[in-house]
Amino acid sequence: MDTTPQRPYSALIVGAGVAGLEAALCLREVAPTAVATTVLAPDDAYVDRPMSVREPFGRARASRFPVTDLLTDAGIAHARGALRWLDHRARQAHTTDGVTLGYDAILLALGARPYHRFPRALTIDPRRIDAQLRGIVADVEAGSITRLVFVIPPGRTWPLPAYELALMTAARAHEMGMAPQITLVTPEPVPLAVFGEAASAAVAAALADAEITLVSAAVAHVRAPGQVHIEDRARDLIADYVITLPELRGPGVAGVPATGLRGFMATDASGRVRHLPGVFAAGDITSFPVKQGGIAAAQAEAAARAIAALAGVEVPEAPFEPVVHGILLGPVRPLYLRARLIGAWPVSSEVSEVPLWDPADKIHAPRLTRALAGYHRLGSDLPLRPFSLSS
Ligand SMILES: Cc1cc2nc3c(=O)[nH]c(=O)nc-3n(C[C@H](O)[C@H](O)[C@H](O)COP(=O)(O)OP(=O)(O)OC[C@H]3O[C@@H](n4cnc5c(N)ncnc54)[C@H](O)[C@@H]3O)c2cc1C
Repeated sequence: MDTTPQRPYSALIVGAGVAGLEAALCLREVAPTAVATTVLAPDDAYVDRPMSVREPFGRARASRFPVTDLLTDAGIAHARGALRWLDHRARQAHTTDGVTLGYDAILLALGARPYHRFPRALTIDPRRIDAQLRGIVADVEAGSITRLVFVIPPGRTWPLPAYELALMTAARAHEMGMAPQITLVTPEPVPLAVFGEAASAAVAAALADAEITLVSAAVAHVRAPGQVHIEDRARDLIADYVITLPELRGPGVAGVPATGLRGFMATDASGRVRHLPGVFAAGDITSFPVKQGGIAAAQAEAAARAIAALAGVEVPEAPFEPVVHGILLGPVRPLYLRARLIGAWPVSSEVSEVPLWDPADKIHAPRLTRALAGYHRLGSDLPLRPFSLSS
């Protein structure tokens, strides 16, 4: 009888953002011994990115969590480094440091790459929102900036922060007795259309209450700094600043044939990348058109379960069924928004001033949220949960 201990199935997860961490934690939960999981990522810290929109208004910095501790405490290895190229036939990942990591299954969770769609506007960089916007907010407070236009680019993006920044700027201006003209221009037919009719109506009402002019279904170009041309209405908006979001593109991975448009990866409902055995993808890197943390986490769970099944674990598969969860900061009370999607189309719409899900985090990634809560208890210097989203 062969008494050689069986080598556990090895899963390599590339990326330590929402999708990578949720997938690693899910694998640990459903296959604690059968799968040995390693996360390959350069990150020291996981940043609670959605909360960074509050920084220019003098609120606490977005929380940061130590990635290596988070992973090793959960029994997951952290290989510090970045993927350079993938030899999917040999099942080997090559890093930029010249290290080769073998695997049985790999999950690509590298996120998306930001692209400056409107180079003449100020494009939000999630890593430095505070530095980019604090001076503008101060000038709005002082009354020296009186016209601002927020433009949501066409194509893939994260639209929520544009609404939040516009609403928070308007609220701060009104607190200071100022009345700047703030306009939000979006290609969406209605505000935050992905959350469905009821949610869009509530967001439109919040914009109107804040005296923000909404220009929806717009084909916009930023022709010069401070000049937005609305092509389909033959109209120009003039502003002191035009603020926009990056358009998102797929990162592409050397060695992996393109499967989706613009560098995104086409996957099935369990995250399998087409025609590449053992290769999975989840999160903003995929060709699913809605880019959102909750979507990334749901895709990650589907992929993790499929990987566990490949390792021989009896685990029910949970194919990805898209539901978007959002908490809109900026109105007097935050709005909790949720919609079930078919494709990218909402087929339900909920909106509430009280949480609709638990734990009620801005990014609906239940395992990650629970794991991060432990780090607050371990004595982080950052605000304790539950924090007030409106404070
Ligand atoms: C300002 C802002 C506000 C947002 N607000 C919300 C919100 O309220 N709700 C919500 O649900 N979503 C929100 N989002 C969107 C959300 O943050 C993303 O959809 C989500 O982070 C996507 O997860 P991901 O794991 O696919 O990618 P990411 O979280 O971007 O993670 C990608 C990971 O891959 C790593 N990586 C990249 N290249 C390599 C490489 N070559 N090798 C190894 N690792 C690599 C990165 O270091 C990182 O760890 C917001 C985004 C921004 C910018």
